[in-house]
Formats: sequence, structure tokens, C-alpha cells
Amino acid sequence: MTRLFPRTLRTADELIAAGLAPEAARAGLEDVAAAYATAIPPAFAALIEHPDDPIGRQVIPDPAELLTTAAERSDPIGDEALSPVPGIVHRYADRVLLKPLLVCPLYCRFCFRREHVGPDGGLLDDAALDRAFEWLRAHPAIGEVVMTGGDPLMLSARRMDRIMRALEAIPHIQTIRIHTRVPVADPARVDAALLDALETDRAMWVVLHANHAREFTPEARAALRRIQSRAIPVIGQSVLLRGVNDTTETLEGLLRAMVAARVKPYYLHQLDPAPGTARFHVPIAEGRALLASLRGRVTGLAWPTYVLDIPGGHGKVPLGPEYLRDEGRAVLDPQGVRHEIGPTGEANLAEKPRTR
Ligand code: SF4
Repeated sequence: MTRLFPRTLRTADELIAAGLAPEAARAGLEDVAAAYATAIPPAFAALIEHPDDPIGRQVIPDPAELLTTAAERSDPIGDEALSPVPGIVHRYADRVLLKPLLVCPLYCRFCFRREHVGPDGGLLDDAALDRAFEWLRAHPAIGEVVMTGGDPLMLSARRMDRIMRALEAIPHIQTIRIHTRVPVADPARVDAALLDALETDRAMWVVLHANHAREFTPEARAALRRIQSRAIPVIGQSVLLRGVNDTTETLEGLLRAMVAARVKPYYLHQLDPAPGTARFHVPIAEGRALLASLRGRVTGLAWPTYVLDIPGGHGKVPLGPEYLRDEGRAVLDPQGVRHEIGPTGEANLAEKPRTR
């Protein structure tokens, strides 16, 4: 039976009362709450069957978050060093991040910005926004603005409209991207007023962050459909997470759920080493093997690029798996069988053609 939650769960009291944590965990939950924000909106809480299931793990605080390993660091991908003005991160020549607020509909326990995001945080006021727009106007090489945060779809429709109209007034900005978890975390927020604010003559893309097939509820799919019906394509990004999507079956289920919701899987991220996230880490070799196990099993449409954001702000690189061998003289097929090929990919005529 689906349980209904009247409001977003934020405190140890609320988590215990909702049956998502035992009374014995109270002190640990309170210690974690002093360091990192918690929010579990009703739509997401209703999906949790057990606190350690693939939905619960993503959002229920755990005392292990207070342990930082030697490899973990705050700001693992180097946003802060690359911020010329508040709210802007300039890592690549032709695009920037714009972070208009640091509020999210829920707080992922593995977030790489976990020390910054929170319900009180980071709303750029009018003066800061104007400074960010001024910086964008002065940098004609910037063709794409990636709105992230926090979650930009937590803005009021009015504030989103102000931002969109300001971006539209800058001729060299051709593409606007919005990274969000709202359609799966709080689908009712995707209403007509917010969608009206997103109307633009620029290329607009929404990048949905989802990590498990169960996040694609009928309400979430309807919210995605409302976005898509405004001629906004939606692509998907996920994080490879221990206990959430680290098996062939769970990853396949996630990718299939995305495609069924008309969301093209775009990136599967190797988890960034943010403080207190060790319980979620999956080794890269295991991630590559997982993806290899899906080759030939799911449609190419469902295939994401598995990427690492190089610690320190050096950009993203694909992690494979690779199929070429011997500098392009051979290739592996989806079953791992090796085939010799010529320099332009032609078949080796000495090899017997496969019959179907
Ligand atoms: S929604 Fe995004 S920014 Fe917010 S906590 Fe989750 S991963 Fe971090």
C-alpha cells in the first residue's frame, strides 16, 4: 500500500515518525543534520519501501556521512576556483554554469555540492543576478548557459521568468540547459506558470537527474510530458551508486525507464569524491564491466556515456568501456569475442562471416 506523507520530511523527529529511521538513530541523525541538509518530499518518501532500498539510500541521512576518507574533498570538481562572479562557474570556453539558488527539492546524500546546498542557501539576489548577466554580456564566446544549483526548477515562476528574459536579451547565448531533479522529486511543481516562464526562442534543454527506475512514477512521467509538450527535449543524467543502480538489472531498469519516458540517457557519472560519500562508491573497473554487460542487451538509444569529472576542475572524460584492441587492428563484439579489422573498420576477409 502506498503511504501518503503530508509534507516534506526534514528533521530526525519527522524521519522517525515516518518510520524511515529507528529511534536509536536519533543522535546520529541529529549530528548529520548539523552538517548537511535533509529533505524528502512526499512524492519521493512514498516510494521508499525500506530505508536501505535504492530510493531510501539516496535521501535518508546516515551517520557514515560524518566520516571523510583521505580521497574525499570538499568542492571535488573545483567549482569555487573557477567562479569569476557569484553564481557563475566558467570551466569551458563556450559555456558556463549559472547557479541561481542552492535549494533542492530533496538533498541527495552523495551530492558533490553537499556542503553548499540547503534550504536557506544561495538565492542570488537581484544585484548578484545583474552582475552575472553583466559578466555574460561581456563574454561573447559563451554560447550556452547551464542552469544548475541547487535545482533551478525550485525558483518561483516569476524569478525564472526574470532570468529567462535576461538571458534571451543576450544575443550570443544560443542554448539554455536546466539541470533538475524536480520532475521526479516533486512533479507537481512543474506547472503551467513555470513552463510559461521557460518559453524561449533559444535552444532549451532539460537534463533530468534520476538514479532508479522507481523514480519514474506516473506523476513524474506526466511532469516530464508537460515539459516535452513545450518542445523542450529532456535528456537524463544519473550517478553510479552502490546499492542503488550498481547491478546489470537495476542499471538496465533505469535506462529503460528513461527511454520509456522519452528521456535520452546522456551521462552516467562516476561518483565525485565529496565528503562522507564512501558508502556509495563503485570502482571504475566495476562501472565499466556493468556497462559492458548491457552492450547488446539494451537499445543504443538507452546507452549513456560513462564519465568522470576529473577532480580539481579539469573537465569530464569518458571512462569506456572500450572495444578497440591493438590500436584499431581488432575489436570486441558485445559478447567479448575478438574480431580482426582493417584500418577503416572493414572485415578481415580471412574471418568467417557470422550467420544469423
Ligand atoms: S538535487 Fe542535485 S544539487 Fe541538489 S542535492 Fe541532489 S545532486 Fe545535489
